Amino acid sequence: MTAPRKLTLGSARGRELLRRSLLAWYDTHRRDLPWRQDRDPYRVWLSEIMLQQTRVAAVLDHYQAFLRRFPTIEKLAAAREASVLAVWSGLGYYRRARMLHAAAKEIVREHAGKFPSTAEQWRQLPGIGRYTAAAIASIACGEPVAVVDGNVERVLGRLLDQHLAGEGLWQAAGELLAARRPGDFNQAMMELGATVCLARQPRCLVCPVFRCCATQGDVEKRGPKPKQKKREIHYALDCQDGSVFLTERPADAALMPGMWELPEISSQDDPSSAWLTLRHSITTTDYVVRVRRARAFPETKGRWILRRRLRTLALTGLARKILRAAGFEE
Ligand code: SF4
Repeated sequence: MTAPRKLTLGSARGRELLRRSLLAWYDTHRRDLPWRQDRDPYRVWLSEIMLQQTRVAAVLDHYQAFLRRFPTIEKLAAAREASVLAVWSGLGYYRRARMLHAAAKEIVREHAGKFPSTAEQWRQLPGIGRYTAAAIASIACGEPVAVVDGNVERVLGRLLDQHLAGEGLWQAAGELLAARRPGDFNQAMMELGATVCLARQPRCLVCPVFRCCATQGDVEKRGPKPKQKKREIHYALDCQDGSVFLTERPADAALMPGMWELPEISSQDDPSSAWLTLRHSITTTDYVVRVRRARAFPETKGRWILRRRLRTLALTGLARKILRAAGFEE
């Protein structure tokens, strides 16, 4: 008998097979967890906050007790902080409980108890970062956004046989995502990492996506992780009358084609002249990013973008980070 042919994830057929196989496996093998019983945003949000840095087994009892005490967001928002912390007691990382409480008050006070419907909106709330926002929006709201956590990072690296980091990881996860069932797909990837594609010993013989995996468990052959390269990059931040000047990446760029970013400028002799300095990683490169309040080169092709349009514009992760740090985007 001949072994089934390996399908690469570089092809649309390979990616579709991965989605179908993974979702079919998830439908029959997923762990029966209380927060998976429905897609209620309050319950999904609570579970995601509790699961941060905490094992599933430790969360189970606390999750039920919390919901008994605060069955709705209105009850949580109206509670005293001391009561919230008391029910959280034993889970640790109490900042999570304080942020959850602050976010509940904000939703009730400013949005009449209506939950956000996109990852971008969830991310505006206290205590919600990129992973958590994408997890809640995909599971509770059906938004096609991918998540990346430690499990997904490991699974993706093996499936694609690539050392991915930073924005490259999020991009790779987004390309594989099953847009028709984003929440289930994201949970399936994390479940695969937690129960099959284990860190030390992947269980490839029972893996539902074995046929589309580039390494098929032969992870040793990849050798040591390549050293991260270091690079410095300089951008101009040019804002006028509520607009910012941005350029579009070429459609044939290898990374993030068609996305918008700040215009790049040549390096400055004196790094202290930068208005803003931050760090950012993309695939195997760690960047020190220096931003100057300056005009782009006259020959730079670009457009003035109104501030209110930024939320819906396809900005690179780095551009959004800079605009947020500059207070130009919320
Ligand atoms: S075949 Fe093995 S290495 Fe590849 S995803 Fe499955 S468990 Fe992980």
